[in-house]
Amino acid sequence: MAFTLPDLPYSQDALAPHISAETLSFHYGKHHKNYVNKLNELTANTPMASQSLEDVIKKAGAGPIFNNAAQVWNHTFYWNSLAPAGGGDPKGDLAKAIEKSFGNVADFKKKMTQSAVTLFGSGWSWLVKKPDGTLAIVETSNAGTPITGSDVPLLTCDVWEHAYYVDRRNDRAAYVEAFWKLVNWEFAAQNLARK
Ligand code: FE
Repeated sequence: MAFTLPDLPYSQDALAPHISAETLSFHYGKHHKNYVNKLNELTANTPMASQSLEDVIKKAGAGPIFNNAAQVWNHTFYWNSLAPAGGGDPKGDLAKAIEKSFGNVADFKKKMTQSAVTLFGSGWSWLVKKPDGTLAIVETSNAGTPITGSDVPLLTCDVWEHAYYVDRRNDRAAYVEAFWKLVNWEFAAQNLARK
């Protein structure tokens, strides 16, 4: 098959108690996997089957191929935005960039929490680097992803209900609080350094 489900960067029980193995078994093992399978079905015997995931996302623009391809990409980025030993505070250049754009880390976290909790319906809250070098919080709906534009994503929080319903029922705010206990600042710092 052209597109494959990347391995999780940790075991399915590694994010507990903040995010349970049961959530991971559904969110990664079923939802993420189904986006990969669906993308393979939709692109079978087309030139897209041999293109990179990023190219497919940019070329598809909208519709079922875009939705499944972008969800594959967004979820892989999301798993990397979490780490079993995550949480705490950012360091180094990332901390400086956050302070420059948001005042301080606490205000940034408050602002991204607000974004994630209030985003209407299904979508994603992102920390991105804008073309002018400043950091910003942006939201995308459904399968929307910053990589179709000029922002460089540093970190994301999946706020689809499937990300939290097993553990938290309808309490998205409790899930976002758990997100901060797992946030992978090192991944964000690597993304900041990359471009
Ligand atoms: Fe998801």
